[in-house]
Amino acid sequence: MLADVVASGGHDARDAGAILDALGRLPSPDRTALVERIAQGTAGTAFAACAGLLARAAAWGPTGLHGAAAALVRAMPGDPARAAPALSWQRPAPMAPRTVLDLLAGLGAVDPALAGQAAAHMLAWPGTYGMDAVLVPAVRDVPADAPGAGPLRAACMVHLRARAEELLAPPADWRRDSTLPCRCPRCMELARFLDDPEQRTWVLKAAEADRSHVEGTIRTAGCDLDTVTDRRGRPYSLVCTKTQASYERRTRQRKRLCCTDPLGGAGTWSGVGGFTLTSDIDLAVQAEPAPPSPFSQAEAQAHELARV
Ligand SMILES: [Zn+2]
Repeated sequence: MLADVVASGGHDARDAGAILDALGRLPSPDRTALVERIAQGTAGTAFAACAGLLARAAAWGPTGLHGAAAALVRAMPGDPARAAPALSWQRPAPMAPRTVLDLLAGLGAVDPALAGQAAAHMLAWPGTYGMDAVLVPAVRDVPADAPGAGPLRAACMVHLRARAEELLAPPADWRRDSTLPCRCPRCMELARFLDDPEQRTWVLKAAEADRSHVEGTIRTAGCDLDTVTDRRGRPYSLVCTKTQASYERRTRQRKRLCCTDPLGGAGTWSGVGGFTLTSDIDLAVQAEPAPPSPFSQAEAQAHELARV
């Protein structure tokens, strides 16, 4: 089975248990060598699964895992120039907070300097490691003193501060955020459309592979777009219409925040360590609103602050 994994480059998070079981039966130098071969052979195509594997293998002890850890850092998604050549029907899976947690845990155990490099890479490629979708939810669960956590935490704080202070006005025109994880010609066209303050609708008449690639980019980047496939004529068309989804999401966040923030949503920037109630609650609204806390207000605040 392990030989198949190494040869095919295809495994995913669901295989991790079986791979670890098989590895666990090998003597230590053999299994760390195999983890390294799996990471070097498959990190480009199965990055999340490799990050999970490294995190779990690190529990055996960091000895012998440096090569695997370095291979993962080299294969980190983000830079389109470094992306592994994917078959046209393969859409890169969006980065998940879980993968960031696994990566930092594994790298931190093996070599803190690599965890620092990984954090810098994440901050350099916001199209892949989005603040709202990836880094803020991940950072909530990373211990504050974990290797690499410091810069990520600081960046999340800056982001949340800006978000909390942002004037919640609806967009003034049709320009929308055009930060995308892919720079292929189709996605560049999409970015130009998003950036256009006057164009509300864009029709991509193209083959299925191109349409689904662009749809994947829209989903991964969380673009403010509704998409519909128009099946009249061949090839079909992907009709993209701009929405106010980000604005509406922030308004909902702010409403929840006002419900839970004892200071009425305005927050204060003079809290513990300069970090505020508002940001804590912004972190919390990534999940659905929690039922009323059994803690007293003060205990709940102390608990939230301790998490950050
Ligand atoms: Zn693209």
